[in-house]
Amino acid sequence: MFDLQKILRENIKNLKPYSSARDEFQGKASVYLDANENPYNSGINRYPDPLQIELKKAIGKIKGTKPENTFLGNGSDEAIDLIIRAFCEPGKDEILSIKPTYGMYQVCADINNVRYNEVLLSEDFQLDIENFKKAITKNVKVAFVCSPNNPTGNSLKKDDILDFLQSFHGILVIDEAYIDFSSTSSYLELLDQYPNLVILQTFSKAWGMAGIRLGMAFASKEITSILNAIKYPYNVNVLTQQKALKEITSNKEQIANNVAQILDERKLLQTELKNLDIVKYIYPSDANFILAKVLDAKQTYKYLCDKEIIVRDRSNVALCEGCLRITVGTPEENKAFIKALKDMN
Ligand SMILES: *Cc1c(COP(=O)(O)O)cnc(C)c1O
Repeated sequence: MFDLQKILRENIKNLKPYSSARDEFQGKASVYLDANENPYNSGINRYPDPLQIELKKAIGKIKGTKPENTFLGNGSDEAIDLIIRAFCEPGKDEILSIKPTYGMYQVCADINNVRYNEVLLSEDFQLDIENFKKAITKNVKVAFVCSPNNPTGNSLKKDDILDFLQSFHGILVIDEAYIDFSSTSSYLELLDQYPNLVILQTFSKAWGMAGIRLGMAFASKEITSILNAIKYPYNVNVLTQQKALKEITSNKEQIANNVAQILDERKLLQTELKNLDIVKYIYPSDANFILAKVLDAKQTYKYLCDKEIIVRDRSNVALCEGCLRITVGTPEENKAFIKALKDMN
């Protein structure tokens, strides 16, 4: 079965992590002369808590997770990179993922010189579970799936993910960047059952804080300890920690209202798009964007650009031929977008 020590890279197993001043003294004191900080208080003259405990506790209150099962990074992208660096031996090990999906898994694999093996989704954007399982080799240490998936917008079937989990002895990362827009529930509830599961979430989408760069990885405490040992000591800065804490504790209702508004607008956009002649098909969405197949994606993209409305041209992506990816905006933005398309006809 799953054995973490067996898939951990040898150099990481033997790593002696950097020990910061804040690692070596963690209590409360009145005079801090241990970190070569500037004593004059600017609000940001002190190094941040390297393990972000207060923030992890606040996150735990909304997600039912424990600080020891939580890793926080400079966006989810940091967690993606660290997971690859912890478990995949460059030039030897492999990553398994789906196609099409979020581009960062491959970029991080390429940077780390780790082979990236992608298995095409079915026509309805679901896991091709037979081929996905067949692609497991002894060198596949980490698998990435994304649900709801980007750029397709749909959630993957839970039965397929469970089927894969049961046959895989490496780490399965489920990227849930869009989970708060989804009608399906998070895989967080499975964490206790599967020691090889990592769930990624982010403050960039539903929380509306892409600018502060804060991502979450939830996993066993064995896995989060490894990620903490190899991250930069102060990877999440003071301003980010303060802002996230403030939003979680005092702005939760507003955030929930914004998500509800985005879901209403998604529905409206879908209805409007369906009525347009240039739109051939709207894919179902469990996210804050819509994938739409149009008659001529490149031409429509260019036309919208000229009107200063920018969508994402995904027409060169596998299975997304002729497709544009449209992020749900404010009611005004969405109206401007639909009006532009109507004027095009
Ligand atoms: C937007 C997005 C993220 C978020 O990345 P951050 O680094 O946290 O901003 C992660 N995964 C997917 C699939 C995304 O689309």
